[in-house]
Amino acid sequence: MTSKNPGSGHAPASGSPAPPAGTRGDPRHVVILGSGCAGLTAAVYAARGNLHPLLVNGHESGGQLSLTTEVENFPGFPTGIMGPELIEHMRKQAARFGTEYMAGSATAADLSARPFRLTVDGKHEVHTRTLIIASGASARMLGIESEKRLLGRGLSTCATCDGFFFRGHEIAVVGGGDSAMEEATFLTKFATKVTVVHRREELRASKIMQDRARGNPKIEFIFDSTVDEVIGTKEGGITSLKLRNLKTDAITDFATRGLFVAIGHTPNTQAYAGQLELDTRGYICLKHPHSTATNIEGVFACGDAVDHVYRQAVTAAGTGCMAALDCEKWLTHERITERWDLPEGEEERE
Ligand code: NAP
Repeated sequence: MTSKNPGSGHAPASGSPAPPAGTRGDPRHVVILGSGCAGLTAAVYAARGNLHPLLVNGHESGGQLSLTTEVENFPGFPTGIMGPELIEHMRKQAARFGTEYMAGSATAADLSARPFRLTVDGKHEVHTRTLIIASGASARMLGIESEKRLLGRGLSTCATCDGFFFRGHEIAVVGGGDSAMEEATFLTKFATKVTVVHRREELRASKIMQDRARGNPKIEFIFDSTVDEVIGTKEGGITSLKLRNLKTDAITDFATRGLFVAIGHTPNTQAYAGQLELDTRGYICLKHPHSTATNIEGVFACGDAVDHVYRQAVTAAGTGCMAALDCEKWLTHERITERWDLPEGEEERE
């Protein structure tokens, strides 16, 4: 892509106008909420579009990649890269073109009038003409201490990301919904055996997903049980689980090399409820499949706050890029809404 910023590849030249202050009288052009792949990619593009973005980090700085270890499926890294390192590269890349970072989370947002008003950490006000929401989704966790310690060290929330590391091992999946069935089925490509641990006797998953998992000879089930503790070390990984049978209260040791927690995701969109259109699960609805525009003009959304299907770093980055381009276009062309009415096949942006 050709940079719109003279001196492409360098920080904004000294003498270029100072970025807006973010006050009511001098609102930011764009504020990006979220510092995962989607937010940081949006920042790279918005900064190179001379929008001087302000990026508010959010409560999980770096997003889900910062919670993982090796990433082997992000294009451009033939020998893999550690998740936190990949995020650090993206932060530096966005900073190089003038992105400013702000620690904290948007605790409230008034999207009823432009400029929009955000409250960060309950005390700092930021005003902005446009908003890119890249606040992601958090994997639901079991809430036990050992889970936090071993996340990325044998414990994972993403089979697509980490299944490969368990080739030839026996592993476990916790959960009884479609995600757990899907993850378990996917993991049989690598593992010699996958045991699904579920807290009830009935699975929540749809019949077709259940049938697929139940019919897979590599998948076994342990019902009426919860994972009370994950045994292992950061260095050596997981060795076993302490399972509690909820009917008998008996605790057993279950040997395994990995645990995939697949008990659902929660999109980080609570701050926008009642203003932005959300689906029944809280994901942000987009107006058009070829756009990141939401039901509020000037508000764009990308990444896992929108996507409950793909949830990959590279897809989040892709939609982050789209959001920045949509935002820049919206700021440049007052009549942007007309684009949505173009006949099929004429949606091109340029
Ligand atoms: P879900 O339907 O909410 O299921 C979560 C599962 O995790 C439930 O079985 C639940 O147990 C269990 N669980 C929740 N909290 C737990 C805890 N603290 N400890 C132990 N177990 C716990 O979530 P999901 O499976 O991620 O699915 C979310 C949505 O995405 C669904 O609408 C699903 O159909 C859809 N989805 C579709 C596909 C597909 O069609 N390919 C794939 C994935 C997801 P209980 O049953 O006892 O509540």
